[in-house]
Amino acid sequence: MAVTRKVIIIGSGPAGYTAAIYAARANLSPLMLTGVQKGGQLMLTTLVENYPGFVDGLMGPELMEIMRKQAERFGTEMVAEDATAVDFSRRPFVVRAGEDEWEGHTVVLATGASSKLLGLDAERTLMGRGVSTCATCDGFFFRDQNIMVVGGGDSAMEEALYLARLGRKVEVVHRRDRLRASKIMQERAFKHPKIEFVWNSAVEDIRDVAQGKVTTVLLKNLQTGEIAERPVDGLFIAIGHQPNTAIVRGQVDLLPNGYVKVAPGTTRTSVPGVFAAGDVQDHVYRQAVTAASTGCMAALEAERYLEATQPH
Ligand code: NAP
Repeated sequence: MAVTRKVIIIGSGPAGYTAAIYAARANLSPLMLTGVQKGGQLMLTTLVENYPGFVDGLMGPELMEIMRKQAERFGTEMVAEDATAVDFSRRPFVVRAGEDEWEGHTVVLATGASSKLLGLDAERTLMGRGVSTCATCDGFFFRDQNIMVVGGGDSAMEEALYLARLGRKVEVVHRRDRLRASKIMQERAFKHPKIEFVWNSAVEDIRDVAQGKVTTVLLKNLQTGEIAERPVDGLFIAIGHQPNTAIVRGQVDLLPNGYVKVAPGTTRTSVPGVFAAGDVQDHVYRQAVTAASTGCMAALEAERYLEATQPH
């Protein structure tokens, strides 16, 4: 095994990259497991208008590319692998990616969160064949076609607005009669001539698995129980996210909702020397800028932990 690293960062969203920038500038020579698909959720986003420092906004993937270059510039070593296991029961800690393994005196968990799904069999079967969780990735395939978006949050509005540029019409299906999205996003969606809302409704089933593509969606009105079948070519699921904690389950304390538990106002997990930053520990704010800020905190806390525990 190679030399024990001072800091190993798992994940490459705003939290991971910011932790890397701070750790690298503190001469901690961080190793980052970026994951096979680097960049986190912002790689699946369109225009980011609320990240400070960019007056006109910029595209999510562009923002992540800038952060990656900044982290690299200060000497972060990046490995394009997914961490598959960790061992926090021994010291130094061990992080594995398949056959490869690394030792670290500290670990920053920045594995983020992934899209939630409805849980229908047809949804799984037709994923990538008409069902999608990423408008910017797949919207192109549904030009001038019927598109449906499920959800009532900012993600759903963002997806609907993006897809309305491409599709014939976009129906937003929401399980309640009011949106959770921010007012500005709601207003934009309400104003858009191609976007329609279907309230108090849930996706009951998706057809047609036999044809291997989406043809119709069965919607259940949750107030009347009535089922309606609507012609749909592309179904976009935008109902929120769940934290990516599979590799740390049983090793650090999690909250009942599955997010990593950190000491209030810090990124300290239940294991001294292991820090958690970004969406993997934030079920409240979940913004790029808050992820970046906790990434900064994690690096500073790791630095202090190393100073206190590792003789120079
Ligand atoms: P979210 O705010 O948690 O919204 C999820 C939506 O999906 C809610 O409307 C929820 O319904 C619905 N939902 C959840 N589970 C469902 C299910 N099983 N079946 C049907 N509907 C379901 O998630 P989000 O929209 O991904 O946003 C997450 C965070 O990121 C928020 O803080 C948001 O502000 C932020 N964000 C910001 C932007 C932006 O500013 N441009 C863009 C994207 C995200 P209920 O309303 O009934 O709970």
